[in-house]
Amino acid sequence: MSITYNIFKVRIDLDRIRRNFAAVKERCANPIPVIKADAYGHGLIPVAGVLAGAGVGRMAVGTVGEAVDLRKSGFGGTIISLLGPQLDQDYPACVEYDITPFTFTADHLRRLNAAAGAKILPVIVKFDTGMSRLGFAPDQAERVASLLADCPRVKAVMAASHFATADDPAEEAYARAQAEAFMRGVRGLREAGLPVEACMANTGGIFAYPEYHFDAQRPGISLYGCNPLKGTAWEGKCAPVSQAMTVSTRIVSVHDIAAGTSVSYGRTFKAPRDMRIAIAACGYADNYSRGISGKGEMLVRGGRAKICGRVCMQLTAVDVSDIQNVSPGDEVFILGGGPNGVTPDELAAWWGTIPYEVFCLLGQNPREYYGG
Ligand SMILES: *Cc1c(COP(=O)(O)O)cnc(C)c1O
Repeated sequence: MSITYNIFKVRIDLDRIRRNFAAVKERCANPIPVIKADAYGHGLIPVAGVLAGAGVGRMAVGTVGEAVDLRKSGFGGTIISLLGPQLDQDYPACVEYDITPFTFTADHLRRLNAAAGAKILPVIVKFDTGMSRLGFAPDQAERVASLLADCPRVKAVMAASHFATADDPAEEAYARAQAEAFMRGVRGLREAGLPVEACMANTGGIFAYPEYHFDAQRPGISLYGCNPLKGTAWEGKCAPVSQAMTVSTRIVSVHDIAAGTSVSYGRTFKAPRDMRIAIAACGYADNYSRGISGKGEMLVRGGRAKICGRVCMQLTAVDVSDIQNVSPGDEVFILGGGPNGVTPDELAAWWGTIPYEVFCLLGQNPREYYGG
């Protein structure tokens, strides 16, 4: 959203992202930060800037378009596109901007080879080991090697795959089977004379399966301060990380209502007693989902205020009966804002989703940056 200024505010603490990266790096040798989808809503260029300042030489984004933006920002290191080339213009863009794409079809390799001109383009061979999403079959490594042999301007430098269940102790057998399949694929490429690095682990994999760190790792959510193992028996395995995103807006009205008075559309909430209601300037237009209606909480003057009734387009009512002195103009926090602040996991639970989506959606609002 592009407007001159806004009440609804997303703050990003870049120092925390730097510290989170350092905490992750203590636990794995060769992390490649994942900053796809606008760095999970935290801002591609500012986040890349702070990581580059911390000495990071390789980063992973989603689309080739994102990769081009990152290159144009001045980052001189390796830029990996996890989606690989999809549009016609992606092929020459990979060559022109030195982007290292994931590749998972014969067509990718042939078209990159044709686009490479006089250059040798490094690429990553993606294996599908259990997401059933993208990738060559690991048992096809020999065929991939022969495809590559026909594409002399394209050079495989890494093999990659992705865990479906690294954060779920109940699916340990599945994760291990994926890693085994990946190792077969990597071995196949190496035996065919391609000395590829191996890279599989996301955040869950990094902390739950140190034995599957291979040569490089791809942490994402941990950099933004979430522990994907939270709530499982493996919760304690994650490095200490803290959320970098704080989201707040303002109270625009405060009033007392009598028991029985309804609040907001559809009258889904009726005051069980005399209450004090505050109206916060946020709603589903700010990507504060209507699905949070009647469930979520906010932080105002250090106290938790429960949502009353439906979240509207730009307004949401909360109960401030037990919080002293709430007034119009007060800052009210939707995420973070103090020791008692709403955590990404809490907000995600009310929302019926995961912190990844909370960050991506709330992060689409205007952002301000601190630290860095
Ligand atoms: C998003 C993503 C990651 C990072 O995953 P987290 O769970 O956020 O650590 C790693 N690899 C691939 C291919 C991804 O798409």
